[in-house]
Amino acid sequence: MQIPGHIDPVPVPRAAVLRDDGRIDLVGLPREQIRHELEAAGLDARQAKLRAKQIWHWIYNRGATRFADMTDIAKAQHPWLEDRFVIGRPEVVEAQVSTDGTRKWLLRAPDAQDYEMVFIPDADRGTLCVSSQVGCTLNCRFCHTGTMRLVRNLTASEIVGQVMLARDALGEWPSQPEGRLLTNIVMMGMGEPLYNFENVRDALKIVMDGDGLALSKRRITLSTSGVVPMMARAGEEIGVNLAVSLHAVTKDIRDEIVPLNRKYGIEELLQACADYPGANNARRITFEYVMLKDKNDSDEDAHELVRLIRKYKLPAKVNLIPFNPWPGAPYDTSTPERVRRFSDIVFHAGISAPVRTPRGRDIDAACGQLKTSAERKSRAELDRLAEEKQAALG
Ligand code: SAH
Ligand code: SF4
Repeated sequence: MQIPGHIDPVPVPRAAVLRDDGRIDLVGLPREQIRHELEAAGLDARQAKLRAKQIWHWIYNRGATRFADMTDIAKAQHPWLEDRFVIGRPEVVEAQVSTDGTRKWLLRAPDAQDYEMVFIPDADRGTLCVSSQVGCTLNCRFCHTGTMRLVRNLTASEIVGQVMLARDALGEWPSQPEGRLLTNIVMMGMGEPLYNFENVRDALKIVMDGDGLALSKRRITLSTSGVVPMMARAGEEIGVNLAVSLHAVTKDIRDEIVPLNRKYGIEELLQACADYPGANNARRITFEYVMLKDKNDSDEDAHELVRLIRKYKLPAKVNLIPFNPWPGAPYDTSTPERVRRFSDIVFHAGISAPVRTPRGRDIDAACGQLKTSAERKSRAELDRLAEEKQAALG
């Protein structure tokens, strides 16, 4: 059964908003395209190639935001570049720090849409939780982001921009191979990354590029609620670790809490996991399982989870996530005893099943709590604001 508009809605493609000043933001463009833009602006092929290489290095290895700082590019050319191009960053509306050190940023796009990113520091690593969309069309019932009315895909520039901004905030330029604070990236912020495949792929390719941010694909995880037809492509074209938001082991319950299940069922999803390119015992697939009181947290559920993982011979680990409440949420958090018992059953079957400690709950930065205030404005209001801004700029 399909719920029109709820299960597989492709987010309305809203054209990327051009900068008001007509300049091109180079952040998020593939290398080749930077070269192409330089050529289109008038450089000859040989020079465009050289400049593109230099500019790439300055942007992604050194964190430069001004052409004037690019010392290996002739000074005389700096104003020419500044007139045509920018090295942008998302606008920060608010930055918050949790009592546990987790940091959350509210970011605003030029079309007045807001999205969030979260940085989670640990003793041995630092993880940036990156958003792929403003809001999410999938309406998982336990997820606050899924209740946002406004949805659009983030551009590759807005996705890479989150990483750039985090590096700025952490003072991590130039890129260092050792001793970094930002060591890992998870595509687990707002949105379903596989509904914004091309932009997420292009952005992650830039993040992984050796002459730049240089994060290894082993330190990047993409989380999907189960967009089965895109999973093989994700493995082939992006190649990062896969996390799957399973959350339930029976059709009834998963249909209820992850409505996408009505389109791509559990067995189909697990087969796609078994076929995921690059998954093996050294690079296991993570199954995320949010623990909802009296909904999906029984002993039988745990045994069924083990049976399914075995049936499909999946190199798997299970991440048990205590449900993070939000105002009006229709579920409760499982008791710690229940979570422990569930974890023990899975663990005794030889499958790692750690319980994820909630981080940043006090600033609504924990899993599933992200939801910006922008959604309180209607689409019409946002369009009016954008028009007013245009008018003001003449
Ligand atoms: N859309 C993707 C990635 C973003 S959600 C996905 O669903 O996988 C990141 C993770 O947070 C998912 O596993 C999601 O199910 C989980 N999550 C959502 N709401 C939550 C909540 N209220 N408490 C705990 N985890 C939640
Ligand atoms: Fe979207 Fe993921 Fe939230 Fe589901 S859990 S509504 S897919 S962000």
